[in-house]
Amino acid sequence: MRWVMKRARFYRQSRRLARSLRFRLAMSYAIFFAILVVAVGLILRAMLGASLDREMRAVIDEEWAAAKGYMRIENYRPEWAYDRADPEESLIVNQIKGGVYLLMDANAKALEFSETYKGIPLSTQAEIAPIIKSRSNRVWMYKTDEDGVRYLLRQGVMIDRNQQPYYMVIGKPVSDIEATLNRFNSYYLMVAVGAILVGLILGWLVAGRALIPLNSVAQAAQEIKGSNLKVRIPLRGAGDELDRLIGAFNDMTTRLDNSFEQIRQFSTDVSHELRTPLTAIRGQLEVALLTGKTVDEYRDVVVDALQDVELLSNIVRALLQLSQAESGQLVLQVAPIDLAPVVADIAEQFEIPAEDQKLTIETAIECEGCVVNADRLQIGRLVTNLISNSVKYTPNGGRVRVELKRHEDLVQLIVSDSGVGIAADHLPHIFDRFYRVRKMQTKSVQGLGLGLSFVAWIVQVHGGKIDVESVEGKGTTFTVSLPAADAGPPECEPELDLGATALP
Ligand code: ADP
Repeated sequence: MRWVMKRARFYRQSRRLARSLRFRLAMSYAIFFAILVVAVGLILRAMLGASLDREMRAVIDEEWAAAKGYMRIENYRPEWAYDRADPEESLIVNQIKGGVYLLMDANAKALEFSETYKGIPLSTQAEIAPIIKSRSNRVWMYKTDEDGVRYLLRQGVMIDRNQQPYYMVIGKPVSDIEATLNRFNSYYLMVAVGAILVGLILGWLVAGRALIPLNSVAQAAQEIKGSNLKVRIPLRGAGDELDRLIGAFNDMTTRLDNSFEQIRQFSTDVSHELRTPLTAIRGQLEVALLTGKTVDEYRDVVVDALQDVELLSNIVRALLQLSQAESGQLVLQVAPIDLAPVVADIAEQFEIPAEDQKLTIETAIECEGCVVNADRLQIGRLVTNLISNSVKYTPNGGRVRVELKRHEDLVQLIVSDSGVGIAADHLPHIFDRFYRVRKMQTKSVQGLGLGLSFVAWIVQVHGGKIDVESVEGKGTTFTVSLPAADAGPPECEPELDLGATALP
């Protein structure tokens, strides 16, 4: 059992090692080295073989020349004419006669051959005829003797004093070359294995060194948790791929940090928003329990509590819609819609609340060809959010203007007001989720900071664009541009600056 577990652990460890970048890099080095070493080996071996062959042919040529010089043939009888007292000449002649040597007449009758040649099949008439005929002097061939030894042989013609042609062969065993090549093979194999091993070890060390910074990045990344998102991995200053990775990683943690911060802020806001009506309901119910006597008194308390419950459910609904939009669960029912009556209807709904706040709502909605392909419900939500914000953030006596017009291939909805405006430093963030500008002069009723996130999301899913211009204390103008239904598909991707954490 323990043995099985050990084996399983060994397999797990070796699988992990095989997957590690260091191992794969080292293996790549070793494979590259191996290919290089094998290729060099093959080239060297071919060069060595060719040079040995050339050398052997040169030695045979020398012996051939010597044989030609020392041999006289008279009446089919070869005579070796050399100074027997001269050791050098004797040595050369004995070398030829004791080597691989054959002499035949033109009819393929052997006149003389060396001891070694006994095992080699003699040349046939058919073989020698063309050589005799062409008087060739240097025709190479290979032959194998009875023992399987291969020979390189030079065949050619010798002419005697009577101009009679004879056929002569002088050669050498190729086994000498083969033995040298085999020796080369075994030496080279040892060197090659050594070189590949060195390549593997070097690769392992170099890869290890190259990966040290990567490991430190991984270690730093491991230390980052939700609570310490402020940690940044220091750049190495090398300006290489790793620095770019660290840069991208740091940017990501910054974005995460911002998102976490917003979520924390949102949780605080939500608790606060929910706590206010809950405390109110509780207070009202407690007071009714202690002091309520008549049905009318109880009814008043229930009506008040119901209003607070309504507020609570609005907040919860907004949260639900946000999470649906975020997770892509909101399915759009897209159809051609004439925006003019839709916008006119919604603007009209705001007349009563506007009157209460002594605001004037101007409209310029007469619009021909203001048809867009859109989801009716979401477009309604977009228009409502923009007008409601203008009404909300415009002090008493102010003005809100709603305009709808066709501009080339676009249908534009422009909602402007003479309200509190938005400071330039807040402007880039107003489309971020949960972002609210807290200001004393805005009215006490505040949203959750989700309205414009929804607006941005709706504009984006309809392939449109939203712009905002605002001067603090003077007013704000939102311009939504949607592609008209009778226009072709947009030439480029819809542009939308939603800030860092806009809705998908
Ligand atoms: P909220 O629910 O707080 O209105 P929104 O997402 O609709 O959230 O708006 C985000 C912030 O943008 C608001 O808190 C407000 O400060 C600012 N804002 C939006 N519309 C206007 C406007 N018409 N005038 C001034 N400020 C605005």
